[in-house]
Amino acid sequence: MQSRQAAGSRITRLGTLEDALKRVYRAASLLQVAHARNVLITAGIECELRNQYLAGALGDLPMMETWPQLYVDDDDETLALRALARAAAAPAGTMWTCSGCGEQLEPQFTQCWLCGAAGPPRGV
Ligand SMILES: [Zn+2]
Repeated sequence: MQSRQAAGSRITRLGTLEDALKRVYRAASLLQVAHARNVLITAGIECELRNQYLAGALGDLPMMETWPQLYVDDDDETLALRALARAAAAPAGTMWTCSGCGEQLEPQFTQCWLCGAAGPPRGV
């Protein structure tokens, strides 16, 4: 009987922990999620990356549930969402055009994803 009680209280505690975290971001690409995590870390917000290696492993789950996703503390949710929105609205830098193939690239890329040519020098 005692062990049964112990198991019950453990589940309750885990459930409480779960509630204290809020999912603020998810995407099919780990690269995008890693970028979002950098945004949060830069803003001084602790976050937790989940499902990093899960994609494709759980065939029974809806696709989006297997995506990499970012969780933050309940108290940081508003702050985190604001930081992410700000990062999405105003990327640090300007779009650049690849000298190798003419592809338009977003500022966070230092290299052309299409042909591999290096981007313009940074921090100017
Ligand atoms: Zn290129």
